[in-house]
Amino acid sequence: MEIYLDANATTPVLPQAREAALAAMAEDFGNPSSIHSTGLKARALMDGVRARARRVLGADGGRLLFLSGATEGIQTAVLSALSALRDHAERPELLLYGATEHKAVPEAIRHWNALLGLNLQVLAIPVGRDGRHDLAWLREHAPRAGLVCTMAANNETGVISDLDGIAAALAGSTALWMVDGVQALGKLPLRLAERRIDYAPFSGHKLYAPKGIGLLYVRDGAPFTALLAGGGQEGALRAGTENMSGIAALGAVLAALEEGGSFRDHATLVAYRGQLAAALQKAFPGMVFNAPPEACLPTTLNFAVPGLSSKLLLDLFDAAELRVSGGSACSASKAQPSYVLEAMGLPGWQTASAVRLSFGPVADRAFIDEACARIRVCGESLRESCLDPSAPGQALPADGLTRFIVDGACCYLLADAASRRAVVIDPLPELTGRLAQWLRCQDYELAAVLDTHSHGDHASSAPALVAAVEKARGDVDALGWPHGADAVELGALRLTRLALPGHTQDSTAYLLQDEGKPGGGPRLAFVGDTVMPGALGRSDFAQSAPRAYGASLRRLAQAVGPQLLLLPGHDYDDRFATTLAVECAAQPLLADVLAGRLDDAGFAAAKARLEQGLALTEYQTVACGARIDSGCPLVASELSPEGLRNLLGGHPDLLLVDVREPYEQRLGQAPELGGAVRREAVALSGLPDALGRWLALPAGTPVVFFCRSGNRSAQAAQALRRLGHGQAWSLGGGLALWPRPPAGADAACAI
Ligand code: PLP
Repeated sequence: MEIYLDANATTPVLPQAREAALAAMAEDFGNPSSIHSTGLKARALMDGVRARARRVLGADGGRLLFLSGATEGIQTAVLSALSALRDHAERPELLLYGATEHKAVPEAIRHWNALLGLNLQVLAIPVGRDGRHDLAWLREHAPRAGLVCTMAANNETGVISDLDGIAAALAGSTALWMVDGVQALGKLPLRLAERRIDYAPFSGHKLYAPKGIGLLYVRDGAPFTALLAGGGQEGALRAGTENMSGIAALGAVLAALEEGGSFRDHATLVAYRGQLAAALQKAFPGMVFNAPPEACLPTTLNFAVPGLSSKLLLDLFDAAELRVSGGSACSASKAQPSYVLEAMGLPGWQTASAVRLSFGPVADRAFIDEACARIRVCGESLRESCLDPSAPGQALPADGLTRFIVDGACCYLLADAASRRAVVIDPLPELTGRLAQWLRCQDYELAAVLDTHSHGDHASSAPALVAAVEKARGDVDALGWPHGADAVELGALRLTRLALPGHTQDSTAYLLQDEGKPGGGPRLAFVGDTVMPGALGRSDFAQSAPRAYGASLRRLAQAVGPQLLLLPGHDYDDRFATTLAVECAAQPLLADVLAGRLDDAGFAAAKARLEQGLALTEYQTVACGARIDSGCPLVASELSPEGLRNLLGGHPDLLLVDVREPYEQRLGQAPELGGAVRREAVALSGLPDALGRWLALPAGTPVVFFCRSGNRSAQAAQALRRLGHGQAWSLGGGLALWPRPPAGADAACAI
């Protein structure tokens, strides 16, 4: 059962609103502009809903238009205000909007300001740490302003604006005032007519009506310019045949609001929020609220947990079928810090780790109880994965290889459960805290921290990591290798090193040997920047050894052969691993030097020509371009749920791999396929180690990856395909699109 806690993004449609919409489509389907009885019935319905909306909004005067939603309402208000300002004899200088407004507001202001040729100065009204407008600033600027836009309540934080304070700051100013009432509808009494508000837009879908219906209030006497001209509907203020099913549904929601019963009162909502806040605090000790709850809508909580990104928390909650959001829905697809929290002056980690939890005012106790229970389970799952930075928890022994990636740079953690020892290869400063926390929580000994090469522009973070786990660094060389040691051992695992001067004079590969592996050869190699997917490391730095590079590559080829998995120091396009065979097919230069067609001097000269004048990213692009041209194009590898079932029918040996992280796997469901299906759970971070196993499967064995949304599984399928397994697939759309049993009784909870 899904627990939907993202009501500030949108809400499901209330059952009585659904019924009203259906009736307006099936029976009362008239056009309110028609003068026959069917049309008159539609008009009566529309007039009734408008009258109700006036009562709910406290808007007995002024105009109240039906339109498609708040974005259209905002456009109309801004166009109206700016058209009037254009005609003013004495034009004001400023257009002001709150720094935390929904993007629709500043974008509309900029758009119409340019299109109407006004070119007034557009300024954001600063907000304080509590998210509220800086009224002193506003008072100072209001006399020069032509339009002021301030929201009634914020969609990300729920912070409620001080509308009376804003009205006082605007006293004496001729500025027009727009209040975005979207998040306040049904939650705050707006008393529009009692205030000097000129425009107030609303969206039905934020309060249990369908998408595509909204309202715009325009004060009597406020300037108005129609956005849509046409058939004269809405008193010629907004042309286009009205969305009657939307209006009917909105009417049913407003009726429920007026009549009471369906919507909880303020005190109950505050109590529900308190319950959720307590559950969060217990599940994630150390979490902080990004806005003071007492200054916010009782239905919104915005929080951050130190050390946990919002992406991680979102994946975790989603696995527990708790739908929450990171910042706002519009920016959720882009991994960007919240501009709302930035405007409030919150520290970077808080703006980058924000999670918003919002419920609608028809939530009931059972729904909130279930939400709290799931939050608790999420906290437990994190503790079991050693990911809760503040709580030691009960560690599950971790074994094997984990890859971390930060801006394309790779760091590897090799752990052995039997000996309780771990090695970190190519540590990254961004990961110091997380790795140290993990090692402490698992109670593993840090056997070594190894770099594959030194860096010209920064020092290694190895000493910081060693210090963070309170260990003495011991007698090691500049790359972290213990002086005099032939190998670093972790139980049955053995790391040996191979000097590969080229990218730098000290470039080194680490070969991983596994006593348990038949044949005794290395299982994989950490090669740093010597060989990266689609490229070789640059060799034009002061610390490079370009003339030694060719011989190093041949030495590597001799040690690892064409098929061994090579784990790079950088991976810019999610390829996880490569082999010399794959790289030779893609990089003629590499193929030539390995085959002896190019001597070391010729190789160094050709490489220098390629590198000359190219920045690292350009170099990467050139090399990757060469690869794609040389016959390694991406292949579509998505399967629909039906496609997966069909494939399974023809291939009972199919292997289904869950690539979500362990804390998600522990919570989440998996595709129900009936019968016995071979399954594995390998988080994307564990992919490099598993790729070799899947490559060893018979060529025709389908390997199908799945995750939450289909993104991570697509990466895994492409990585396996690139390495030569043609039967690698991803479940398109992930678990999110996997067919579920009909909602039935669950629907009430989702509301
Ligand atoms: N204003 C606020 C405060 C909002 O939360 C939203 C939607 O997220 C909008 C405006 C835009 O509403 P719509 O997308 O329904 O037009």
